[in-house]
Amino acid sequence: MENKLYVYNSKTGKKELFEPINPGHVGMYVCGPTVYNEVHLGNVRTFVSFDIIYRYLKYLGYKVRYVRNITDVGHLTESGEDKVLKRAKLEQLEPMELVQKYTNMFHEMMSIFNTLNPDIEPRATGHLIEQMEMVQEILDNGYAYEQNGSVYFDTLKFNKDYKSYGKLSGRKIDELFTETRDNLKNQDEKRHASDFAIWMKASDEHIMKWNSPWSVGFPGWHLECSVMSTKYLGETFDIHGGGNDLKFPHHENEIAQNIGARGVEPVKYWLHSNMLLMNGRKMSKSDGNTISPYELFTGNSEHVSKGYSPMAVRFFMLQSHYRSTLDLTDQAMQAAEKGYKKLMDAAQVVENMQYPGNNNNTTDIDEKILTILSAMENDMNDDFNTPKALADTFELVNYINKLKDGHLNFKEISIDTFNKIKDTFLKFIYEVFGFRKETAGEDNAMFEGMIELLISIRNEARANKDWATSDLIRDKLKELGIQLKDGKDGTGWSKI
Ligand code: AMP
Ligand code: ZN
Repeated sequence: MENKLYVYNSKTGKKELFEPINPGHVGMYVCGPTVYNEVHLGNVRTFVSFDIIYRYLKYLGYKVRYVRNITDVGHLTESGEDKVLKRAKLEQLEPMELVQKYTNMFHEMMSIFNTLNPDIEPRATGHLIEQMEMVQEILDNGYAYEQNGSVYFDTLKFNKDYKSYGKLSGRKIDELFTETRDNLKNQDEKRHASDFAIWMKASDEHIMKWNSPWSVGFPGWHLECSVMSTKYLGETFDIHGGGNDLKFPHHENEIAQNIGARGVEPVKYWLHSNMLLMNGRKMSKSDGNTISPYELFTGNSEHVSKGYSPMAVRFFMLQSHYRSTLDLTDQAMQAAEKGYKKLMDAAQVVENMQYPGNNNNTTDIDEKILTILSAMENDMNDDFNTPKALADTFELVNYINKLKDGHLNFKEISIDTFNKIKDTFLKFIYEVFGFRKETAGEDNAMFEGMIELLISIRNEARANKDWATSDLIRDKLKELGIQLKDGKDGTGWSKI
Protein backbone atom coordinates (compact mmCIF):
# COMPACT_ATOMS: atom_id res chain seq x y z
CA MET A 1 0.00 0.00 0.00
CA GLU A 2 3.09 2.17 0.07
CA ASN A 3 2.27 4.44 2.91
CA LYS A 4 -1.20 5.20 1.71
CA LEU A 5 -3.85 4.84 4.32
CA TYR A 6 -6.98 2.89 3.47
CA VAL A 7 -10.01 3.01 5.75
CA TYR A 8 -13.16 0.95 5.71
CA ASN A 9 -16.06 3.31 5.16
CA SER A 10 -19.26 1.89 6.66
CA LYS A 11 -21.28 4.16 4.40
CA THR A 12 -20.00 2.56 1.18
CA GLY A 13 -19.05 -0.83 2.63
CA LYS A 14 -15.61 -0.51 1.02
CA LYS A 15 -12.02 0.16 1.95
CA GLU A 16 -11.21 3.55 0.52
CA LEU A 17 -8.04 5.56 0.10
CA PHE A 18 -7.99 8.12 2.88
CA GLU A 19 -7.84 11.61 1.43
CA PRO A 20 -8.74 14.29 3.95
CA ILE A 21 -10.82 17.24 2.81
CA ASN A 22 -8.03 19.70 3.71
CA PRO A 23 -4.69 18.09 2.87
CA GLY A 24 -2.59 17.53 5.98
CA HIS A 25 -5.50 18.10 8.35
CA VAL A 26 -8.01 15.63 9.74
CA GLY A 27 -11.28 16.37 11.52
CA MET A 28 -12.52 13.42 13.54
CA TYR A 29 -15.66 13.18 15.67
CA VAL A 30 -16.40 10.22 17.94
CA CYS A 31 -19.61 9.75 19.92
CA GLY A 32 -18.64 9.91 23.56
CA PRO A 33 -20.28 8.36 26.61
CA THR A 34 -23.64 9.07 28.12
CA VAL A 35 -22.49 9.98 31.60
CA TYR A 36 -25.18 8.44 33.78
CA ASN A 37 -23.20 5.53 35.17
CA GLU A 38 -19.79 3.96 35.34
CA VAL A 39 -18.11 3.39 32.02
CA HIS A 40 -18.07 -0.32 31.17
CA LEU A 41 -15.42 -2.34 29.43
CA GLY A 42 -17.35 -2.34 26.14
CA ASN A 43 -17.28 1.48 26.07
CA VAL A 44 -13.56 1.33 26.85
CA ARG A 45 -12.97 -0.92 23.85
CA THR A 46 -14.62 1.58 21.54
CA PHE A 47 -12.63 4.51 22.90
CA VAL A 48 -9.37 2.56 22.79
CA SER A 49 -10.09 1.67 19.13
CA PHE A 50 -10.51 5.33 18.22
CA ASP A 51 -7.51 6.26 20.35
CA ILE A 52 -5.38 4.02 18.13
CA ILE A 53 -6.87 5.62 15.03
CA TYR A 54 -6.16 9.11 16.41
CA ARG A 55 -2.64 8.12 17.36
CA TYR A 56 -1.87 6.57 13.98
CA LEU A 57 -3.16 9.59 12.08
CA LYS A 58 -0.82 11.73 14.18
CA TYR A 59 2.01 9.27 13.56
CA LEU A 60 1.45 9.75 9.82
CA GLY A 61 1.98 13.46 10.38
CA TYR A 62 -1.60 14.72 10.07
CA LYS A 63 -2.72 17.64 12.19
CA VAL A 64 -5.79 16.07 13.76
CA ARG A 65 -8.65 17.78 15.53
CA TYR A 66 -10.33 15.08 17.59
CA VAL A 67 -13.75 15.94 19.01
CA ARG A 68 -15.45 13.53 21.41
CA ASN A 69 -18.64 14.66 23.09
CA ILE A 70 -20.20 14.07 26.48
CA THR A 71 -23.90 13.21 26.30
CA ASP A 72 -25.60 14.73 29.31
CA VAL A 73 -29.16 15.18 28.10
CA GLY A 74 -31.72 13.63 25.79
CA HIS A 75 -30.54 9.99 25.75
CA LEU A 76 -33.71 8.12 26.69
CA THR A 77 -34.31 4.66 28.10
CA GLU A 78 -36.62 2.13 26.41
CA SER A 79 -39.50 3.51 28.45
CA GLY A 80 -38.77 7.10 27.40
CA GLU A 81 -37.10 8.41 30.56
CA ASP A 82 -33.96 10.53 30.35
CA LYS A 83 -31.09 8.27 31.49
CA VAL A 84 -29.35 11.08 33.36
CA LEU A 85 -32.51 12.23 35.13
CA LYS A 86 -33.53 8.73 36.13
CA ARG A 87 -30.18 8.04 37.71
CA ALA A 88 -29.95 11.49 39.35
CA LYS A 89 -33.24 10.80 41.14
CA LEU A 90 -31.97 7.44 42.29
CA GLU A 91 -28.74 8.88 43.64
CA GLN A 92 -30.46 12.01 44.95
CA LEU A 93 -28.12 14.28 43.07
CA GLU A 94 -28.62 17.39 40.99
CA PRO A 95 -28.48 16.16 37.35
CA MET A 96 -25.33 18.21 36.67
CA GLU A 97 -23.76 16.80 39.83
CA LEU A 98 -24.36 13.31 38.52
CA VAL A 99 -23.02 14.27 35.09
CA GLN A 100 -19.86 15.71 36.66
CA LYS A 101 -19.34 12.66 38.83
CA TYR A 102 -19.49 10.19 35.95
CA THR A 103 -17.57 12.49 33.62
CA ASN A 104 -14.75 12.57 36.17
CA MET A 105 -14.85 8.80 36.51
CA PHE A 106 -14.82 8.42 32.74
CA HIS A 107 -11.76 10.67 32.46
CA GLU A 108 -9.96 8.73 35.14
CA MET A 109 -10.68 5.48 33.33
CA MET A 110 -9.49 6.87 30.01
CA SER A 111 -6.26 7.94 31.64
CA ILE A 112 -5.80 4.53 33.31
CA PHE A 113 -5.97 3.04 29.80
CA ASN A 114 -3.55 5.69 28.52
CA THR A 115 -5.87 7.08 25.85
CA LEU A 116 -5.08 10.57 24.59
CA ASN A 117 -7.50 13.34 25.45
CA PRO A 118 -9.68 14.66 22.65
CA ASP A 119 -8.85 18.18 21.45
CA ILE A 120 -12.40 19.34 22.16
CA GLU A 121 -14.87 17.63 24.47
CA PRO A 122 -18.19 19.44 24.05
CA ARG A 123 -21.26 18.76 26.17
CA ALA A 124 -24.79 18.57 24.83
CA THR A 125 -26.14 20.91 27.52
CA GLY A 126 -23.52 23.49 26.55
CA HIS A 127 -24.93 23.67 23.01
CA LEU A 128 -28.66 24.23 23.48
CA ILE A 129 -28.80 27.40 21.40
CA GLU A 130 -27.04 25.76 18.47
CA GLN A 131 -29.37 22.77 18.73
CA MET A 132 -32.45 25.01 18.65
CA GLU A 133 -30.97 26.79 15.63
CA MET A 134 -30.63 23.50 13.79
CA VAL A 135 -34.21 22.51 14.66
CA GLN A 136 -35.31 25.82 13.13
CA GLU A 137 -33.21 25.28 9.99
CA ILE A 138 -34.71 21.82 9.50
CA LEU A 139 -38.21 23.25 10.02
CA ASP A 140 -37.51 26.09 7.57
CA ASN A 141 -36.37 23.57 4.95
CA GLY A 142 -39.57 21.59 5.36
CA TYR A 143 -38.02 18.40 6.79
CA ALA A 144 -39.63 18.65 10.21
CA TYR A 145 -43.05 19.42 11.65
CA GLU A 146 -44.28 20.63 15.00
CA GLN A 147 -46.88 18.74 16.97
CA ASN A 148 -48.03 19.82 20.46
CA GLY A 149 -44.74 21.55 21.24
CA SER A 150 -42.53 18.71 20.01
CA VAL A 151 -40.73 18.78 16.67
CA TYR A 152 -40.34 15.64 14.57
CA PHE A 153 -38.05 14.93 11.66
CA ASP A 154 -40.08 14.00 8.58
CA THR A 155 -38.25 10.90 7.32
CA LEU A 156 -40.72 10.24 4.49
CA LYS A 157 -40.33 13.71 2.99
CA PHE A 158 -36.57 13.58 3.47
CA ASN A 159 -36.34 10.23 1.75
CA LYS A 160 -38.48 11.41 -1.10
CA ASP A 161 -36.05 14.24 -1.80
CA TYR A 162 -32.72 12.62 -0.97
CA LYS A 163 -33.41 8.86 -1.28
CA SER A 164 -30.76 8.11 1.29
CA TYR A 165 -32.49 7.45 4.61
CA GLY A 166 -31.35 4.03 5.86
CA LYS A 167 -28.28 3.88 3.62
CA LEU A 168 -25.65 3.90 6.38
CA SER A 169 -27.28 1.15 8.41
CA GLY A 170 -28.46 -0.79 5.37
CA ARG A 171 -32.06 -0.67 6.57
CA LYS A 172 -34.86 -1.25 4.12
CA ILE A 173 -36.89 1.89 3.87
CA ASP A 174 -40.26 0.11 3.80
CA GLU A 175 -39.46 -1.72 7.01
CA LEU A 176 -38.29 1.49 8.61
CA PHE A 177 -41.47 3.29 7.78
CA THR A 178 -43.57 0.69 9.55
CA GLU A 179 -41.20 -0.08 12.42
CA THR A 180 -41.61 1.81 15.65
CA ARG A 181 -38.10 2.77 16.57
CA ASP A 182 -38.15 5.81 18.74
CA ASN A 183 -38.54 5.38 22.45
CA LEU A 184 -41.19 8.01 22.70
CA LYS A 185 -44.32 8.07 24.74
CA ASN A 186 -46.11 10.19 22.17
CA GLN A 187 -45.93 7.86 19.20
CA ASP A 188 -49.30 9.05 17.92
CA GLU A 189 -47.94 12.57 17.38
CA LYS A 190 -45.67 11.33 14.62
CA ARG A 191 -46.80 11.16 11.01
CA HIS A 192 -44.77 8.01 10.33
CA ALA A 193 -43.35 5.41 12.69
CA SER A 194 -39.81 6.15 11.47
CA ASP A 195 -40.00 9.89 12.24
CA PHE A 196 -37.97 10.90 15.26
CA ALA A 197 -38.08 13.77 17.70
CA ILE A 198 -35.55 16.55 17.35
CA TRP A 199 -37.19 18.63 20.08
CA MET A 200 -39.33 17.18 22.85
CA LYS A 201 -41.84 19.00 24.99
CA ALA A 202 -41.06 18.27 28.62
CA SER A 203 -43.60 17.13 31.17
CA ASP A 204 -44.01 19.23 34.35
CA GLU A 205 -41.93 16.88 36.48
CA HIS A 206 -39.05 16.79 33.97
CA ILE A 207 -36.15 18.82 35.43
CA MET A 208 -33.69 19.33 32.56
CA LYS A 209 -35.65 21.56 30.21
CA TRP A 210 -35.16 24.80 28.32
CA ASN A 211 -37.30 27.51 26.77
CA SER A 212 -37.65 27.21 23.04
CA PRO A 213 -39.91 28.65 20.33
CA TRP A 214 -41.89 25.36 20.37
CA SER A 215 -42.15 24.48 24.07
CA VAL A 216 -40.25 24.20 27.30
CA GLY A 217 -38.44 21.02 26.47
CA PHE A 218 -35.20 19.34 25.54
CA PRO A 219 -33.38 18.26 22.37
CA GLY A 220 -33.53 14.79 20.84
CA TRP A 221 -30.41 12.74 21.46
CA HIS A 222 -29.23 12.57 17.84
CA LEU A 223 -29.26 16.33 17.44
CA GLU A 224 -26.29 17.09 19.70
CA CYS A 225 -23.84 15.16 17.53
CA SER A 226 -25.07 16.79 14.30
CA VAL A 227 -24.61 20.18 15.90
CA MET A 228 -21.35 19.74 17.78
CA SER A 229 -19.51 17.86 15.03
CA THR A 230 -20.23 20.51 12.41
CA LYS A 231 -19.73 23.40 14.81
CA TYR A 232 -16.15 22.34 15.54
CA LEU A 233 -15.19 20.50 12.35
CA GLY A 234 -17.18 22.24 9.62
CA GLU A 235 -20.25 21.35 7.56
CA THR A 236 -18.35 18.44 6.06
CA PHE A 237 -15.57 16.71 7.90
CA ASP A 238 -13.37 13.65 7.48
CA ILE A 239 -14.08 10.95 10.04
CA HIS A 240 -17.07 10.13 12.21
CA GLY A 241 -16.73 7.18 14.57
CA GLY A 242 -18.58 5.23 17.21
CA GLY A 243 -19.59 1.69 18.15
CA ASN A 244 -21.49 -0.13 15.43
CA ASP A 245 -24.56 -0.27 17.68
CA LEU A 246 -24.88 3.47 17.00
CA LYS A 247 -25.29 3.13 13.22
CA PHE A 248 -29.02 3.01 13.64
CA PRO A 249 -30.81 5.08 14.62
CA HIS A 250 -28.21 7.50 16.00
CA HIS A 251 -25.88 7.98 13.03
CA GLU A 252 -28.54 7.49 10.39
CA ASN A 253 -30.50 10.29 12.00
CA GLU A 254 -27.44 12.48 12.35
CA ILE A 255 -26.90 12.32 8.59
CA ALA A 256 -30.58 13.09 7.93
CA GLN A 257 -30.49 16.10 10.28
CA ASN A 258 -27.34 17.55 8.75
CA ILE A 259 -28.62 17.17 5.22
CA GLY A 260 -32.06 18.37 6.28
CA ALA A 261 -30.52 21.52 7.77
CA ARG A 262 -27.68 22.32 5.36
CA GLY A 263 -28.26 20.17 2.30
CA VAL A 264 -24.81 18.53 2.50
CA GLU A 265 -23.50 15.13 3.57
CA PRO A 266 -21.60 15.83 6.76
CA VAL A 267 -19.11 12.96 6.84
CA LYS A 268 -16.60 11.63 4.32
CA TYR A 269 -15.63 8.41 6.14
CA TRP A 270 -17.84 6.61 8.66
CA LEU A 271 -15.84 4.29 10.92
CA HIS A 272 -17.56 1.83 13.26
CA SER A 273 -15.96 -0.38 15.85
CA ASN A 274 -17.34 -3.74 16.87
CA MET A 275 -18.69 -4.97 20.18
CA LEU A 276 -16.96 -6.54 23.14
CA LEU A 277 -18.17 -10.01 24.10
CA MET A 278 -17.44 -12.04 27.18
CA ASN A 279 -17.18 -15.83 26.96
CA GLY A 280 -18.78 -15.66 23.52
CA ARG A 281 -21.82 -13.59 24.45
CA LYS A 282 -22.38 -9.84 24.14
CA MET A 283 -21.28 -8.07 27.26
CA SER A 284 -24.44 -6.82 28.83
CA LYS A 285 -25.30 -5.59 32.26
CA SER A 286 -28.87 -6.87 32.18
CA ASP A 287 -28.02 -10.58 32.00
CA GLY A 288 -25.02 -10.42 34.31
CA ASN A 289 -22.52 -11.13 31.54
CA THR A 290 -20.43 -8.15 32.44
CA ILE A 291 -17.22 -7.19 34.19
CA SER A 292 -16.21 -3.69 35.19
CA PRO A 293 -12.69 -2.46 34.50
CA TYR A 294 -11.93 -2.51 38.26
CA GLU A 295 -13.13 -6.06 38.63
CA LEU A 296 -10.82 -6.98 35.80
CA PHE A 297 -7.89 -5.11 37.41
CA THR A 298 -8.44 -6.63 40.84
CA GLY A 299 -9.62 -10.07 39.72
CA ASN A 300 -12.68 -9.64 41.91
CA SER A 301 -15.11 -11.37 39.52
CA GLU A 302 -16.29 -14.89 38.83
CA HIS A 303 -15.27 -14.42 35.19
CA VAL A 304 -11.50 -14.20 35.79
CA SER A 305 -9.02 -16.21 37.86
CA LYS A 306 -6.88 -13.17 38.76
CA GLY A 307 -6.44 -9.45 38.13
CA TYR A 308 -4.90 -8.02 34.94
CA SER A 309 -3.17 -4.68 34.56
CA PRO A 310 -4.71 -1.95 32.38
CA MET A 311 -1.91 -2.25 29.82
CA ALA A 312 -2.44 -6.01 29.54
CA VAL A 313 -6.10 -5.23 28.82
CA ARG A 314 -5.05 -2.66 26.22
CA PHE A 315 -2.75 -5.24 24.62
CA PHE A 316 -5.65 -7.69 24.59
CA MET A 317 -7.82 -5.14 22.82
CA LEU A 318 -5.18 -4.47 20.16
CA GLN A 319 -4.93 -8.16 19.40
CA SER A 320 -8.15 -7.98 17.47
CA HIS A 321 -9.13 -5.69 14.62
CA TYR A 322 -11.45 -2.87 15.63
CA ARG A 323 -14.12 -4.08 13.18
CA SER A 324 -14.14 -7.61 14.63
CA THR A 325 -15.92 -8.62 17.78
CA LEU A 326 -13.58 -9.17 20.70
CA ASP A 327 -14.21 -12.00 23.13
CA LEU A 328 -12.95 -11.56 26.66
CA THR A 329 -12.03 -14.82 28.38
CA ASP A 330 -9.68 -15.56 31.25
CA GLN A 331 -7.49 -17.61 28.93
CA ALA A 332 -7.22 -14.81 26.38
CA MET A 333 -6.32 -12.37 29.18
CA GLN A 334 -3.57 -14.68 30.45
CA ALA A 335 -2.10 -14.88 26.95
CA ALA A 336 -2.35 -11.10 26.56
CA GLU A 337 -0.58 -10.54 29.88
CA LYS A 338 2.32 -12.75 28.78
CA GLY A 339 2.49 -11.10 25.36
CA TYR A 340 2.46 -7.63 26.87
CA LYS A 341 5.28 -8.50 29.26
CA LYS A 342 7.39 -9.98 26.47
CA LEU A 343 6.89 -6.87 24.35
CA MET A 344 7.75 -4.43 27.13
CA ASP A 345 10.80 -6.48 28.17
CA ALA A 346 12.05 -6.14 24.61
CA ALA A 347 11.35 -2.40 24.69
CA GLN A 348 13.46 -2.13 27.83
CA VAL A 349 16.28 -4.09 26.19
CA VAL A 350 16.26 -2.02 23.03
CA GLU A 351 16.17 1.26 24.95
CA ASN A 352 19.39 0.31 26.75
CA MET A 353 21.10 -1.37 23.81
CA GLN A 354 24.02 0.33 22.06
CA TYR A 355 25.33 -0.71 18.69
CA PRO A 356 29.01 -1.53 19.00
CA GLY A 357 31.15 -0.01 16.26
CA ASN A 358 30.02 1.57 13.06
CA ASN A 359 29.32 -1.24 10.59
CA ASN A 360 27.29 -0.17 7.60
CA ASN A 361 27.47 -3.31 5.48
CA THR A 362 24.07 -4.79 4.86
CA THR A 363 23.21 -8.48 4.82
CA ASP A 364 20.08 -10.40 3.99
CA ILE A 365 19.10 -10.12 7.67
CA ASP A 366 18.97 -6.35 7.20
CA GLU A 367 16.66 -6.95 4.32
CA LYS A 368 14.37 -9.14 6.40
CA ILE A 369 14.24 -6.61 9.22
CA LEU A 370 13.47 -3.73 6.86
CA THR A 371 10.64 -5.79 5.38
CA ILE A 372 9.15 -6.27 8.85
CA LEU A 373 9.44 -2.56 9.58
CA SER A 374 7.57 -1.60 6.45
CA ALA A 375 5.01 -4.37 7.07
CA MET A 376 4.15 -2.71 10.39
CA GLU A 377 3.20 0.49 8.61
CA ASN A 378 1.48 -1.35 5.79
CA ASP A 379 -0.68 -3.21 8.31
CA MET A 380 -1.71 -0.01 10.01
CA ASN A 381 -2.31 1.59 6.61
CA ASP A 382 -4.68 -1.26 5.88
CA ASP A 383 -7.58 0.06 7.96
CA PHE A 384 -5.58 0.13 11.21
CA ASN A 385 -4.85 -3.59 11.38
CA THR A 386 -3.42 -3.72 14.90
CA PRO A 387 -3.37 -7.55 15.25
CA LYS A 388 -1.13 -7.89 12.20
CA ALA A 389 1.04 -4.94 13.20
CA LEU A 390 1.45 -6.44 16.67
CA ALA A 391 2.38 -9.82 15.20
CA ASP A 392 5.05 -8.09 13.08
CA THR A 393 6.34 -6.28 16.13
CA PHE A 394 6.90 -9.69 17.71
CA GLU A 395 9.12 -10.68 14.81
CA LEU A 396 11.29 -7.72 15.79
CA VAL A 397 11.15 -8.89 19.41
CA ASN A 398 12.75 -12.16 18.24
CA TYR A 399 15.64 -10.28 16.60
CA ILE A 400 16.06 -8.03 19.64
CA ASN A 401 16.20 -11.02 21.98
CA LYS A 402 18.68 -12.79 19.71
CA LEU A 403 20.94 -9.75 19.80
CA LYS A 404 20.64 -9.60 23.56
CA ASP A 405 21.43 -13.30 24.03
CA GLY A 406 24.27 -13.28 21.52
CA HIS A 407 22.46 -15.62 19.09
CA LEU A 408 22.71 -12.88 16.52
CA ASN A 409 25.92 -10.93 16.14
CA PHE A 410 25.63 -7.14 15.78
CA LYS A 411 27.98 -7.47 12.78
CA GLU A 412 25.21 -9.30 10.95
CA ILE A 413 23.11 -6.16 10.78
CA SER A 414 24.10 -2.62 9.88
CA ILE A 415 24.07 0.31 12.26
CA ASP A 416 21.37 1.93 10.11
CA THR A 417 19.09 -1.06 10.44
CA PHE A 418 19.73 -1.20 14.16
CA ASN A 419 18.78 2.47 14.52
CA LYS A 420 15.68 1.92 12.45
CA ILE A 421 14.58 -0.98 14.67
CA LYS A 422 15.12 1.16 17.73
CA ASP A 423 13.26 4.14 16.34
CA THR A 424 10.26 2.41 14.73
CA PHE A 425 9.82 -0.26 17.39
CA LEU A 426 9.74 2.26 20.22
CA LYS A 427 7.51 4.67 18.29
CA PHE A 428 5.02 1.92 17.61
CA ILE A 429 4.97 0.73 21.19
CA TYR A 430 4.58 4.10 22.87
CA GLU A 431 3.08 6.43 20.26
CA VAL A 432 0.97 4.21 18.04
CA PHE A 433 -0.09 1.35 20.31
CA GLY A 434 -0.12 3.69 23.29
CA PHE A 435 1.44 1.34 25.82
CA ARG A 436 2.81 2.77 29.00
CA LYS A 437 5.47 1.25 31.19
CA GLU A 438 3.81 -0.04 34.28
CA THR A 439 6.69 0.91 36.54
CA ALA A 440 6.40 1.27 40.29
CA GLY A 441 5.89 5.06 40.11
CA GLU A 442 3.24 4.95 37.44
CA ASP A 443 1.64 1.95 39.05
CA ASN A 444 1.33 4.13 42.09
CA ALA A 445 -0.59 6.86 40.26
CA MET A 446 -2.86 4.25 38.77
CA PHE A 447 -3.20 2.52 42.12
CA GLU A 448 -4.25 5.76 43.79
CA GLY A 449 -6.68 6.50 40.97
CA MET A 450 -8.21 3.08 41.39
CA ILE A 451 -8.64 3.43 45.14
CA GLU A 452 -10.35 6.79 44.57
CA LEU A 453 -12.61 5.14 42.05
CA LEU A 454 -13.49 2.30 44.39
CA ILE A 455 -14.33 4.91 47.01
CA SER A 456 -16.63 6.66 44.51
CA ILE A 457 -18.37 3.38 43.74
CA ARG A 458 -18.73 2.66 47.43
CA ASN A 459 -20.18 6.13 48.04
CA GLU A 460 -22.64 5.50 45.29
CA ALA A 461 -23.58 2.14 46.81
CA ARG A 462 -24.05 3.82 50.19
CA ALA A 463 -26.22 6.51 48.66
CA ASN A 464 -28.35 3.71 47.22
CA LYS A 465 -28.37 1.95 50.61
CA ASP A 466 -26.62 -0.96 48.97
CA TRP A 467 -24.76 -1.90 52.14
CA ALA A 468 -23.65 -5.27 50.79
CA THR A 469 -21.58 -3.69 48.00
CA SER A 470 -20.33 -0.94 50.26
CA ASP A 471 -19.14 -3.47 52.88
CA LEU A 472 -17.67 -5.74 50.25
CA ILE A 473 -15.49 -2.93 48.91
CA ARG A 474 -14.38 -1.89 52.41
CA ASP A 475 -13.63 -5.48 53.52
CA LYS A 476 -11.83 -6.52 50.33
CA LEU A 477 -9.68 -3.39 50.46
CA LYS A 478 -8.85 -4.18 54.07
CA GLU A 479 -7.79 -7.69 53.09
CA LEU A 480 -5.49 -6.06 50.52
CA GLY A 481 -4.06 -3.79 53.23
CA ILE A 482 -6.06 -0.62 52.58
CA GLN A 483 -8.04 0.97 55.39
CA LEU A 484 -10.95 3.25 54.49
CA LYS A 485 -11.86 6.02 56.89
CA ASP A 486 -15.27 7.67 56.66
CA GLY A 487 -15.27 11.24 57.92
CA LYS A 488 -17.25 14.46 57.69
CA ASP A 489 -15.39 15.51 54.53
CA GLY A 490 -15.77 12.22 52.76
CA THR A 491 -13.82 9.00 52.77
CA GLY A 492 -10.05 8.85 53.11
CA TRP A 493 -7.73 5.88 52.96
CA SER A 494 -4.39 4.66 54.20
CA LYS A 495 -2.20 1.60 53.92
CA ILE A 496 -2.46 -0.60 57.01
P1 AMP B 1 -23.04 4.99 25.51
O1 AMP B 1 -22.40 5.48 26.76
O2 AMP B 1 -24.00 3.87 25.74
O3 AMP B 1 -23.67 6.13 24.72
O4 AMP B 1 -21.90 4.35 24.60
C1 AMP B 1 -20.65 4.94 24.39
C2 AMP B 1 -19.89 4.19 23.30
O5 AMP B 1 -19.60 2.85 23.72
C3 AMP B 1 -20.67 4.06 21.99
O6 AMP B 1 -19.80 4.33 20.90
C4 AMP B 1 -21.13 2.61 21.98
O7 AMP B 1 -21.26 2.11 20.68
C5 AMP B 1 -19.99 1.93 22.70
N1 AMP B 1 -20.38 0.62 23.29
C6 AMP B 1 -21.45 0.33 24.07
N2 AMP B 1 -21.49 -0.99 24.41
C7 AMP B 1 -20.40 -1.57 23.82
C8 AMP B 1 -19.86 -2.91 23.78
N3 AMP B 1 -20.41 -3.96 24.43
N4 AMP B 1 -18.71 -3.10 23.07
C9 AMP B 1 -18.11 -2.07 22.42
N5 AMP B 1 -18.57 -0.80 22.42
C10 AMP B 1 -19.69 -0.54 23.10
ZN1 ZN C 1 -23.31 10.71 18.71
